[in-house]
Amino acid sequence: MPSDPDHGQRWAHERSHVPLPIILVNGEVRDEFIVSGMQLLLRGASAGDVAEHIARAVEDDPEEHTVGYGGWPNSLGEVELDASFMDGATLRAGAVAALKGFRHPISVARQVMARLPHVLLVGEGAARFAEEIGAERRDMLSPEARAAWQAHAARFADAPAESVIDLTLRMLEQPIGHDTMNVIVRDANGHLCTAVTTSGIAWKYPGRVGDSAIIGAGNYCDDRYGAATCMGLGEAAIRTCAAAQAVTLMRFGYSLETAGQQVAQQLAALLGEADHRVHTNWVRLLLIDAQGHFGGFATRPGLHFKVQTAHDQWPTTHEAVSITQA
Ligand code: ASP
Repeated sequence: MPSDPDHGQRWAHERSHVPLPIILVNGEVRDEFIVSGMQLLLRGASAGDVAEHIARAVEDDPEEHTVGYGGWPNSLGEVELDASFMDGATLRAGAVAALKGFRHPISVARQVMARLPHVLLVGEGAARFAEEIGAERRDMLSPEARAAWQAHAARFADAPAESVIDLTLRMLEQPIGHDTMNVIVRDANGHLCTAVTTSGIAWKYPGRVGDSAIIGAGNYCDDRYGAATCMGLGEAAIRTCAAAQAVTLMRFGYSLETAGQQVAQQLAALLGEADHRVHTNWVRLLLIDAQGHFGGFATRPGLHFKVQTAHDQWPTTHEAVSITQA
């Protein structure tokens, strides 16, 4: 145990006798999705149902180019989706990676948790499972995402790529942006649940899996200590086991603020290493602890998150604490 843990008072919402329902999401999520999630929580819905509800709304949003329908494709123009779901009461989890052609990857991930003695299904296996449970099919490549991919790929028409490796590396030199849907929900029983869903890094090599599908990297949740989710360069979150590490620090008595700063420092150090192959170099981490303190930490300034508690009519936006270098 640290001798003098601070208690993250900067974002503190003290726990009353009845746990305060809280929704914590990345700053890009529309307010209306968060508000409708809070209405469900106030009517007694579980953290899991609300996390899935919000994630599904974002997956359907064609304006959100990094999640679900309308997400940016891989270097061959295919939308491959990663999603994970974790239940803090039981530590049960489900995830899918590189899933193609289904409308709601987050629901498929939750069903992996519910129906199989497994955590992660990938590619064809994930699609077979989705088909078997009757998940809704959808062509996830929107006309806008297709046009963006075609325009980008056309730049290489004069000097065609020798391989998909070559094509991918060249396309990645001009990133179009990326992000992930992160939602952490605490319900009126004090249970935590996390849902993470993304189309991953645009122009990625086909089959590339990011942190969003990896329990412990982009998603971790334990009612006893707290929850953490990540967005940004998934490879960095995987290499630091970022989400599990943050929750483990809180488990060992560190405050949310210390845990977030420690993990962000490690990420910043990793991202500070010169790597000519990486053109995306930030990570943002969202955290909540078992008492309902919450916060956001990032490896660069200007990254936001949104919070709505049961006391708020609308979500409020906060800038994540930025840790630029270890
Ligand atoms: N973390 C996601 C991934 O690496 C992408 C992102 O959040 O920007 O796939």
